[in-house]
Amino acid sequence: MTDQDKYTGRVARMIQRWAGKRITVNRKTTDEGQVLQHTPPAPGEMDAEQGVYIEPPKALPILAECEVLVVGAGPAGLSAALAARRAGADVVLLERFGCFGGVITTVGMETLAWYRYEGTIESEGIGVEMERRAAAMGGAIKWPYNDSECLDADFFKVVADHLVRESGIRPILHCYAVDVIFEPDSNRLKGIVTESKSGRQVVLAKRIIDCTGDADIAHLAGASYRKTPKDKMLGVTTVFNASGVDKARFLEYTEQQPATYADWSRTWEQETTGKEDVLRSPYLDKEFEQARELGVIPAHTTNLGGSWSALTEAGEATNLNLAHMQGYDSTDVMDLTAAEMQGRQEALYALTALKSVVPGFEKAKLRNFGMTLGVRDSRKIIGRTNLTGEDVRNQAKFPDSIGIFPEFIDGYNVLILPSTGRYFEVPYGCMVPLEVDNLLVAGRCVAGDMVSHAAMRNMMACTVTGQGAGVAAAVSLRQGSTTADVDLAGVQQELEKQGVRLH
Ligand SMILES: Cc1cc2nc3c(=O)[nH]c(=O)nc-3n(C[C@H](O)[C@H](O)[C@H](O)COP(=O)(O)OP(=O)(O)OC[C@H]3O[C@@H](n4cnc5c(N)ncnc54)[C@H](O)[C@@H]3O)c2cc1C
Repeated sequence: MTDQDKYTGRVARMIQRWAGKRITVNRKTTDEGQVLQHTPPAPGEMDAEQGVYIEPPKALPILAECEVLVVGAGPAGLSAALAARRAGADVVLLERFGCFGGVITTVGMETLAWYRYEGTIESEGIGVEMERRAAAMGGAIKWPYNDSECLDADFFKVVADHLVRESGIRPILHCYAVDVIFEPDSNRLKGIVTESKSGRQVVLAKRIIDCTGDADIAHLAGASYRKTPKDKMLGVTTVFNASGVDKARFLEYTEQQPATYADWSRTWEQETTGKEDVLRSPYLDKEFEQARELGVIPAHTTNLGGSWSALTEAGEATNLNLAHMQGYDSTDVMDLTAAEMQGRQEALYALTALKSVVPGFEKAKLRNFGMTLGVRDSRKIIGRTNLTGEDVRNQAKFPDSIGIFPEFIDGYNVLILPSTGRYFEVPYGCMVPLEVDNLLVAGRCVAGDMVSHAAMRNMMACTVTGQGAGVAAAVSLRQGSTTADVDLAGVQQELEKQGVRLH
């Protein structure tokens, strides 16, 4: 029994004595194990007028201490943790689910680099390394129409386990970051509060990187951010996988009915540069119209349509990105609840339609839904630099560049593919919140307007900001500066050492 358990037991007995209760429990260890007891909280206060409950103060055990804490283990978080570790820092990577990979593994989104048509100038760094590693381990299938890989979403959990284990990152899974801790009288963070099956605990860190997708840590710390109005937010999606698909028959059908990006315009009003309209795309939409006309699915299912990706020899069609919903805010728990339930219903309509009208899908069966709803859009911090659509479209250059990303825009009615070799530089400043120090924000919640978000939200771009933030956190420790004051020359030097292309 730990000192903490002994203390907890003593306090529990004390409370029971005060309450006049006398319970005799045999606490000796038997074959059935020891009797344990948690100390329940003292009652707090209800403030009915404000509609709040005031918790009593509580002593929280310290779960871990580290130099760099990365919260959230999606493409950004994995890259940040690996980069900080490779730059010599002691790193904890903390994630609310039971696996690393974020949208890849928990939503089932496999297409890390589908934009890579001939002519693309690619970001170099941990993102491409992850893609190659997955392929080398047998966890990827070539994307149908260009030289990129569909990651096997479940297998990627194992790829990420390998990357974490061999790097010496200290992982914490099944652990939710719920609050922040500041150094006294300063704007510098020194830790977070967590919730898990082990209760409410604390992780202390010299630097924190927020890779939660929703900028949870920046929000909790009081940093300013922007949210797209709900009616303009990019939709949420329930991704699903089917088994029992006749791959040859389906591929024959897609050759007879070749889809291009011009077809996307039927579902979404969209601006392209023209070059996109002739490129092949793994896309289904008119099939759902056909199923509606036949009365197989209800008339209101007009949000169905989108991409298919990998087809396995075992007859699986994975990453079916077809069931979209508008008007949900992923930072509202009741919206999440409604969207999860509606999404499963919509996905089943999509599968019913495919079974009825698409050759090869006649005997298809639902294999599984993604572990969680797919979210594209929520908080974006206000940063030292706020990227714009103009930056992305005009090959912007920045003195504080931490990497490059091809001119790939997908969202808010714009689709531009980088097949002409155009790219822009990603500034360190878009990861630096204005009000909070020793905190960096990487991934889809970096600072920028809607069109720049349509570029920066893509997984490979998230790995660019992740790697940049990880290196900057480690270098700031080495320099004895904060993340706001870090000398960028040192950061860029370390990034180049890690194989990142800066310009
Ligand atoms: C349906 C869908 C289709 C998409 N298609 C593509 C595509 O084809 N190609 C592409 O490049 N991009 C695509 N995207 C976009 C891309 O997947 C995401 O923008 C990207 O994964 C964001 O990476 P991230 O690391 O910032 O966040 P995420 O991948 O969302 O990872 C965040 C991680 O943080 C964890 N987390 C969150 N809050 C907390 C907390 N408080 N405490 C602890 N852990 C926390 C989450 O569990 C998660 O693992 C798609 C997105 C969706 C939803």
